[in-house]
Amino acid sequence: MHKKILEQVYKISDFKLNGYLLIDQLTSHLEDKLKASTPNAINWNEPEKELEFWNDFLIHGDSKDLFKEITKRTTHIHHPHYMGHQVSPPAPITALSSTLSALLNNGTAVYEMGMSSNAIERIIIALICKKIGFDDQSGGFLTSGGTLANLTALLSARKAITKKDIWNEGNQNQLGIMVSEEAHYCVDRAARIMGLGENGIIKIPVTKGFSMNTSVLETKFKEAEEQGIEIFAIIGSAPSTATGIFDDLKVIGEFAKKHRIWFHVDGAHGGAGIFSKKYRYTLKGIEQADSVVIDGHKMMMMPALTTALLFKNEVHAKTTFSQKADYLLSDSEHEDWYNSGKRTFECTKNMMAIHWFTLLKLYGEDVFDANVTQLYDMGTLFANLINEAQNFELALQPMSNIVCFRYVSPNLNEEEINALNIKIRQFLLEDGEFYIVQTKLKGKHYLRITIMNPFTTALHFKALIAKVKSYITKPSFS
Ligand SMILES: *Cc1c(COP(=O)(O)O)cnc(C)c1O
Repeated sequence: MHKKILEQVYKISDFKLNGYLLIDQLTSHLEDKLKASTPNAINWNEPEKELEFWNDFLIHGDSKDLFKEITKRTTHIHHPHYMGHQVSPPAPITALSSTLSALLNNGTAVYEMGMSSNAIERIIIALICKKIGFDDQSGGFLTSGGTLANLTALLSARKAITKKDIWNEGNQNQLGIMVSEEAHYCVDRAARIMGLGENGIIKIPVTKGFSMNTSVLETKFKEAEEQGIEIFAIIGSAPSTATGIFDDLKVIGEFAKKHRIWFHVDGAHGGAGIFSKKYRYTLKGIEQADSVVIDGHKMMMMPALTTALLFKNEVHAKTTFSQKADYLLSDSEHEDWYNSGKRTFECTKNMMAIHWFTLLKLYGEDVFDANVTQLYDMGTLFANLINEAQNFELALQPMSNIVCFRYVSPNLNEEEINALNIKIRQFLLEDGEFYIVQTKLKGKHYLRITIMNPFTTALHFKALIAKVKSYITKPSFS
């Protein structure tokens, strides 16, 4: 009986049949979504109803419909009306490299379990380091997500900068990091995991333009020192997630150098700008960083998760986790770049390098320039349309493809405007034609878009603005 069911699982002819069916289905999905021939970016369903559907499907559903139902019941990232979270509509070829990675399932941690992916990863890392402006001392690795990469970078920083051997002896004194109050929440989380606590997270306020207020860095550093806090790192956001505004990496880098602390750049979203001739300037100073995070699954058309963590000096990448796992990794004096498990937090890891390599091989690195440049250009274009539209206002002039805006009316006070924008966003979500998100900035509620699809155009933006207007002016509107 056991043997029979297992033979069924590995039946090769089923794989072939299902594979062709799935490719056909995904092809029509792409045709529909990329060309917006079906109207909706999301078919919203209440969480409880969705749960009920799947509970029922497990018992009564036809397995022939499984992949189809999953596809239907997702947010359609390839639709030009998708302007929500910062996830890329993956280049279709990377769906195929994902299949390859899933089926081959080489864990990559040790060389024998990922010969091609370890070698390919080495090439990718060298390319990104060079683009950042690092010299041949540099290095790094790919890892599962910006969140994990930021934590790993801070662990490397702690090891490199603090005076005590915390990895072996545990925390001895109050350590601290400096970070903008607008940084991604995962930096705060990483600091807490490392035992820094609230006191160890020195939040730097932002300017009116929502970048880190670097004029208070010296004061904040001195205050922390006086309280006995040993600061070992400062983090620049490139850009911050909510607003898409970049910190001044040059000034932060100089500050870090002066105080001999680690300079980490969280470029999960915008680090890909190193490839854009037009927007490279947003990352001025990035070459001074000790470590940099860049997500391939945000601005580089790759599926999740495909994060690069780069170090100015490769030594730090290698010494972060010095615990021994001798049964896996034979000690060697020489540099064994090909055992990536020594440097990453995770043990088994996807063959994520092959997505980077596939795009490079097929389209060349200009494809990254094209994507970032196009998406950032569209951010400016959308901002111009908002400026021209009556009763709409921008939170900030965008520096990237993230734009925060809101509907305003002279007849409403701030509280009413907030309530109205919450309603607008809920209406859009339930309606489903557009998918956008929201954020709160200094008490004000904003609608927020991130243009992720290079085929989103002014026409789609105008339709979104018209949609919001039609909702406001609807007779039933209260
Ligand atoms: C998205 C993002 C992260 C988190 O990265 P994941 O890959 O989603 O884990 C961290 N920092 C910034 C600035 C981001 O935009």
